[in-house]
Amino acid sequence: MEPLRPAKPKLVILGTGFAGFSLLKKLDQKLYDVTVISSRNHFLFTPLLPSSTVGTVEFRSIIEPIRRACKGIRFFQGSARELDTEGKWVRFVSTLGQESFDVAYDILVIAVGAKVNTFNIPGVAENALFLKSAEDARKIRRRTIECFEQASEPGLSPEKRRQLLHFAVVGGGPTGVEFAAELHDFVMKEVRACYPHLMEDVSITLVDAADHILGAFDKSLSDYTTKHFQRQNINVRTGIRTVRLEKDKAVLNDGSEIPFGMVVWSTGLGPTIAVGNFNLPKDKASRILVDETLKVQGQDSVYAMGDCSCVVGKNHPATAQVAMQQGDYLAKAFNRLAKGRAVSPFKYNHHGMLAYVGDDAAIADLSVIKGKGRTTYLLWRSAYLTRLVSWKNKILVLFDWLKTGLFGRDISRF
Ligand SMILES: Cc1cc2nc3c(=O)[nH]c(=O)nc-3n(C[C@H](O)[C@H](O)[C@H](O)COP(=O)(O)OP(=O)(O)OC[C@H]3O[C@@H](n4cnc5c(N)ncnc54)[C@H](O)[C@@H]3O)c2cc1C
Repeated sequence: MEPLRPAKPKLVILGTGFAGFSLLKKLDQKLYDVTVISSRNHFLFTPLLPSSTVGTVEFRSIIEPIRRACKGIRFFQGSARELDTEGKWVRFVSTLGQESFDVAYDILVIAVGAKVNTFNIPGVAENALFLKSAEDARKIRRRTIECFEQASEPGLSPEKRRQLLHFAVVGGGPTGVEFAAELHDFVMKEVRACYPHLMEDVSITLVDAADHILGAFDKSLSDYTTKHFQRQNINVRTGIRTVRLEKDKAVLNDGSEIPFGMVVWSTGLGPTIAVGNFNLPKDKASRILVDETLKVQGQDSVYAMGDCSCVVGKNHPATAQVAMQQGDYLAKAFNRLAKGRAVSPFKYNHHGMLAYVGDDAAIADLSVIKGKGRTTYLLWRSAYLTRLVSWKNKILVLFDWLKTGLFGRDISRF
């Protein structure tokens, strides 16, 4: 007869991003009964998301289905909406239908990330495109090609053509910068080859409210990128705020207007609906406050990590690096706790930052070195290739780079 085993603790994880995925990969599943609830059924490698907006890499090369990557878990595709920490249950709404379900937990981990902050600026939610998900990247890719096809139609006035071919990027952080850089590469290669009649009318503007772009990087690298962009004819406008977006123009705080065919908005992070709804202690930026073991303040069995959380007294950046390290940490901590062992506090280890700036150049802000240019681009490529989470992703991305180098990017619109 099988010996009686005590039931395993019910561990519920919300989110399959960098934090949730890293936790799942290192967790000893023999010790817990694991349920994962996430609004998407895959993990997305966001550092290569800007490359996918113009087809340098394909969307499916940078995502990993969660059911394939983490076998043995129970998975529900849905968005958590309500949390009862007394009754220990979480309510989620299916992403596919509209039904809601309750799931009970012994331990809950909240790793739902953050959403792009529109700062309630009028017209942003309606008229801008964002860059957080594979779906967003697909919308950008489609709209970009649409702009070139529309601008090729006969009988357009020169003003209308220039408006359609003006691409505005609001936010000079790494995402905005990398997107502008990829778009510039697309113009120089694909537009030059397939829409040569439009080359003269294409323009890209990057707008930032701060006095320089890439504020988190060393100032010398920010200056290098600004000069590099100027050489590439990317118009960098700093110290200026967008006060309103209309269907085809941005209105700035100095009264000037920027007509555009497409605007991509990338100006910092705000809380997701779930985090807004959860009655948990939060900081001024609405991130869930956790202690140094990532346990939510005042709770025994609720943890939070990644972009949706903030360790009290630390201000870790909202990056994949932090989220991954926290996921790894919590997996090891849970493995120890299940065996009655003590855990030490979470310690963040900063490895530096990288960004692609276009024309086969990148910047690297590492503790040992500040790198820039083409050699750094090789470092950028190899760093991301090694960090992709599966062999399938690594091989697909390598093939995508090779394909783009040999045949160019695909400009079909569907
Ligand atoms: C374009 C882009 C490029 C980036 N490049 C870099 C880079 O080069 N280096 C770097 O370090 N960082 C980079 N980042 C930042 C990095 O992606 C984030 O810091 C990281 O993804 C945070 O991980 P997370 O697990 O907290 O959240 P996410 O990875 O955003 O994952 C959140 C998860 O929660 C799910 N979810 C959301 N709401 C709910 C809900 N209500 N219920 C259930 N599930 C929910 C989502 O579907 C998702 O699976 C980049 C970000 C973007 C957008």
